[in-house]
Amino acid sequence: DSKEKSKFEGTWRLFKLAVPLDQDPGKDFLEVSDGLLQEIAKVLKFPVASLLPREAFTVVRKSFDARKKLKEPKFVHTVDMDVQKLISLEPRCWDFISRMEPKVGLVECVHGGRDFDDLMSIVRDCKENKEAILNGENGHSAFSTELYRNQATIKPKIAVVGSGPSGLFAALVLAELGADVTLIERGQPVEKRGRDIGALVVRRILELESNFCFGEGGAGTWSDGKLVTRIGRNSGSVLAVMRTLVHFGAPKQILIDGKPHLGTDRLVPLLRNFRQHLQDLGVTIKFGTRVDDLVIKDGHVLGVMVSESADKLRLRSQKTEYDAVILAVGHSARDIYEMLLAHNVELVPKDFAVGLRIEHPQELINSIQYAELASEVCHGRGKIPVADYKVSNYIDKEDLYEVSDSGVTNRSCYSFCMCPGGQVVLTSTNPSEICINGMSFSRRASKWANAAVVVTVTTKDFGALNDYGPLAGVEFQKEFERRAAMMGGGNFIVPVQTVTDFLENKLSVTSVPPSSYRLGVKAGNLHQLYPVHITEALRHSLVTFDKELPGFICKEALLHGVETRTSSPIQILRNIDTYESTSVEGLYPVGEGAGYAGGIISAAVDGMHAGFAAAKKFSLFHGDV
Ligand code: FAD
Repeated sequence: DSKEKSKFEGTWRLFKLAVPLDQDPGKDFLEVSDGLLQEIAKVLKFPVASLLPREAFTVVRKSFDARKKLKEPKFVHTVDMDVQKLISLEPRCWDFISRMEPKVGLVECVHGGRDFDDLMSIVRDCKENKEAILNGENGHSAFSTELYRNQATIKPKIAVVGSGPSGLFAALVLAELGADVTLIERGQPVEKRGRDIGALVVRRILELESNFCFGEGGAGTWSDGKLVTRIGRNSGSVLAVMRTLVHFGAPKQILIDGKPHLGTDRLVPLLRNFRQHLQDLGVTIKFGTRVDDLVIKDGHVLGVMVSESADKLRLRSQKTEYDAVILAVGHSARDIYEMLLAHNVELVPKDFAVGLRIEHPQELINSIQYAELASEVCHGRGKIPVADYKVSNYIDKEDLYEVSDSGVTNRSCYSFCMCPGGQVVLTSTNPSEICINGMSFSRRASKWANAAVVVTVTTKDFGALNDYGPLAGVEFQKEFERRAAMMGGGNFIVPVQTVTDFLENKLSVTSVPPSSYRLGVKAGNLHQLYPVHITEALRHSLVTFDKELPGFICKEALLHGVETRTSSPIQILRNIDTYESTSVEGLYPVGEGAGYAGGIISAAVDGMHAGFAAAKKFSLFHGDV
């Protein structure tokens, strides 16, 4: 009867539907394949899989699982089932559905429909209405916010400083909600930035304001574009960011892939579309314009001092007034930290991690992870993804620490920002320092696999550098970046050591294996870079990683120095609810540089939330933040 049936309306989520590799039809992540339909039929206990209407099912997650303990590799799916659609298209399903007891893990009810009207009612009722606004679906633009625009005629003037993910999403939200937004970026638009990066890689010319860290899209533009995040893949905010990326040209697959990534070649056009959209909304974008100072009076921000670059000549500083400033500058803008300290803005040191970047032949990682299946990887063209890894080790051996008397007994060592099929790149912003990271293109087709191997550090590690107060962590980073530059001998040459030699603490004197790093490598004893307790933690952990990934320690594995900018060494304190600095009203420190994010997605989410918070302050938005 209809009352009984109504209990089963809405969407059910089916988890852990595993389809063997040979039954997976290909790389179309959205497809409800025959193999998947059979798995669904098993869960529903419906006897004839081919009778199930595919239209009633939507794949919401798909991950490749080739763990060694499995009998065979599988694609594991999460699928949403539209119960009403299923029953109306195949009424015989009702008998089977009505006998089911939804239970967590296998079948779970997803409350509420997912069309636009539902979202709008959530906007009215739900605490998290900011997310729902950006979650427009069913053909509606993700930005259908007209309804919520304030009728106010005077628009607040807001400067967003930095066009990384956090700045872009803050600018987007504020512009959508009707603010007069200026986006100020010290670096260049992606077209020019690409040429500057080319000049760095080919002619060793480091443009101080346009490089792997600075320029349109921020630090993550010339990157692997991994979109994994530790802040909850299914949260409304993360989904809103992911859908926005799709709106600007990312493949829909990122919404479903268990380990989504874009790659530099996809990020660049996406950013152009993002820029066009902001300009269509009336955002003024100033590239090649660096914020040097804030204008602050009586604890309120009144504007910014900027200098513009024109044909490499820096023009005189100019003052522009704004009602609020969103500071989204990333954690390589060390000049900004100094400027904030000079204004007595509350900064506190934050734990981060430092270490080295390890590179292996990708084929080796494929064979470690996939065994005989490795030959089917096909450089990113086949069904099987190019293999990655993630390893971590918690060290509790007191004897590893020089500084045990200061209470440091435990720390973690882990792989970070692993780039399958990628290359090691130079992320220095100063020619006398070397720091590196990794990037890749969408197909991850290079013959190299690189990842940072880093150890957590706290203020207890900074020793005498603590005299620099909140900037001690920055000085700590700089010290090892300078040492690496000296060990490389200049010209951006990176010091390297084979893992086997590093474990034995001896210089790699015989031939060093090749590296993907294009500016050249030179053998050095990387033990001379970091304090002993960090080196020992790395050494100890590499041995542990080899147990998990047998073959990880090998002659071809090359360690590169140094990886220091894993996350911000500083947090700029802000109020939890308003996102405003605790020291200066109207100043919104956001994203990775402010210490509230680590990675593309979390930075974008933080920028989005800060955008809503600032919009609320100026009565452009009336929901909860
Ligand atoms: P940023 O992206 O750093 O953006 C800050 C922007 O502010 C920059 O464009 C900068 O030019 C601008 N700026 C700085 N100072 C000023 C000033 N004074 N005036 C005007 N503009 C200024 N994360 C992932 O999640 N996945 C990855 O695969 C990944 N790979 C990476 C690869 C590389 C090579 C690098 C360097 C980083 C990678 N990251 C990755 C990290 C990720 O890029 C950052 O976490 C993210 O970009 C932080 O975003 P943000 O907006 O907070 O800051």
